[in-house]
Amino acid sequence: MTGRAPRRPVVAIDGPAGAGKTTVTRRVAAALGYVLVGTGALYRAVALAAERAGIPWTDAAAVGRLAATIAERGAIEFGARPEGGERVLLEGEDVSAELRRERIGEGASVVSAVPAVREALLDLQRSAGRGGGVVLEGRDIGTVVFPDAEAKIFLTASDAVRARRRWQELAERGQAPPLEAVLRDVVERDRRDSTRPVAPLRQAPDALLVDSSELSVDEVVARIVEHVRGVERRSRGEP
Ligand code: C5P
Repeated sequence: MTGRAPRRPVVAIDGPAGAGKTTVTRRVAAALGYVLVGTGALYRAVALAAERAGIPWTDAAAVGRLAATIAERGAIEFGARPEGGERVLLEGEDVSAELRRERIGEGASVVSAVPAVREALLDLQRSAGRGGGVVLEGRDIGTVVFPDAEAKIFLTASDAVRARRRWQELAERGQAPPLEAVLRDVVERDRRDSTRPVAPLRQAPDALLVDSSELSVDEVVARIVEHVRGVERRSRGEP
């Protein structure tokens, strides 16, 4: 045999909150045998670190400095749990459960609008995907982090569907805020993510649009896996 096997693709999956990204990307990565990197965890970790340090999320300068320090020291690490699933370490402490808190999601949305925070986390994300064979999930993977990603998917769903899914998730965790309040939060988070001047949430022109409003998880996963398999085949020179 001569020559090396072609590089496996970088798969960028972007989209708004509640589109089903977490569930879908986990299953897509497993089906492909790729590594999964949920980049929201990085912004959530910065929000958590700020909260612990008593820094208000709206203090852009201080939050920017904090993110730079965290990145320089390599204080955020991704790992797998022995029993399955991903975990995130901050300063060596497993903060995975803390990061999933609703309020930390809000904080992540605020700190992620700070250009210095995005800048600080860029290299980390790029080195995670550099070798290919990786699914990166976020808001700006296909537009900013990996504009040359071989496979890009923009996963979305209607506001009503996304709010209902979010509400269901919260209900499963024993919380039951009114559905209208969840809808308001979902719409507000998207507005903030889509209108920020730096790396706003938007579909890359070459991304495959998947609207999950009326599709089952299985159907969404199958559509994305089929797309990536097509990219893999073409990179091997097959039709
Ligand atoms: O996806 P997740 O809910 O964990 O993301 C939390 C927040 O982090 C998002 O609302 C968004 O503001 C921010 N984020 C981002 N860019 C990414 C991933 C997440 O701005 N690539």
